[in-house]
Amino acid sequence: MRLPKIREIREALTSFFSPPYTSKYPAKPAAFPSYRGLPRFNAAYCVGCGACAQVCPSQAIEVVDDPQRKLRTLRVDYGSCMQCGQCQEKCITGKGIVNGNEFSLAVSDLAAPEVFETVEKELVVCECCGEVVGCRDHLLWVRERLGAKAYAHPNLLLATQALLTDADASRAKSRPRREDQVKMSCARCRQKVVSADEFLYPRYRTFTEEPAEESAVAAILRRKGRAVWTVSPETKVFEALRLLAEKNVGALVVVEAGRPVGMFSERDYARKVALMDRTSFDTPVKEVMSSPVYGVPVTAGAEECMALMTEKRVRHLPVFEGDRLTGLISIGDVVKSLIEEQRSVIKRLSDYIMGKYS
Ligand code: SF4
Ligand code: SF4
Repeated sequence: MRLPKIREIREALTSFFSPPYTSKYPAKPAAFPSYRGLPRFNAAYCVGCGACAQVCPSQAIEVVDDPQRKLRTLRVDYGSCMQCGQCQEKCITGKGIVNGNEFSLAVSDLAAPEVFETVEKELVVCECCGEVVGCRDHLLWVRERLGAKAYAHPNLLLATQALLTDADASRAKSRPRREDQVKMSCARCRQKVVSADEFLYPRYRTFTEEPAEESAVAAILRRKGRAVWTVSPETKVFEALRLLAEKNVGALVVVEAGRPVGMFSERDYARKVALMDRTSFDTPVKEVMSSPVYGVPVTAGAEECMALMTEKRVRHLPVFEGDRLTGLISIGDVVKSLIEEQRSVIKRLSDYIMGKYS
């Protein structure tokens, strides 16, 4: 028998005391240390800004806001995530979501809890309209970065104060008030409060409603009534003059087949009958009336009426609602309305300057 060589003895001993070359089955999966795996939220650093959802190319991150419960939920769906790392790369805090080196293992149930990763954050809502402002942690994060400059914005101040006090949010009022400038409010409401303060829109009813203002023409008709006196084109001028005097009005609308075809006023009589040697008994209104008819809708403003009267050199305007003749306004009515409007604006501005608004 041949004796073993020294080399062979050494190899036998080495293999006897060395671990096996192959791993046992089943093996625990172990990723390469720098492998980019599933992203996981880090609630301590995530501020709920939602930037990761916006940059996610596969839209695997969903942001769900619940203003009633004041809760924002961010959820990653691992079924859609392709582990690109964009969420971690663009996270505003840099650590709110981190791609670890976990594998994405196949699952049979795509709705299983392990398929999703979620984080919940406290939501701040507008005290005026209930719209979402953002997450409290996000506001605090911004405040920290701004330092002393953060005191310039009420939302940042209030977010900080909320950490110290337990005060309830105020209730929305029927209309914007100056006090709303120092409430937690969304950009839209803040803009309304600051730039469209009470003196601009006194008839605001709610924050969401548009100003429910009555037009100047509608207000004139409400005050003076909607009666319109009309004559036909064949009516004699004398009859028309008698109607003017009887009803104490300055103009009549000349109507043919239900449609206004002209206007007749004392000025037409003076210029086209008396001065032109005609007689009011024989002359029909159609020969002296002013035509065409310039009218305004009931929704028109005083300035619009004044501009039309000045341009067309008329002193009366019929008012229409759709096709229907619904009133007649004079230059006197329009001037009065303009003066009242300006008085009201001056008073509101004075009250505003004197601090009479709460
Ligand atoms: S790793 Fe990429 S795909 Fe996955 S959640 Fe982040 S951004 Fe979306
Ligand atoms: S802080 Fe980072 S992880 Fe959190 S929502 Fe913003 S971007 Fe996403």
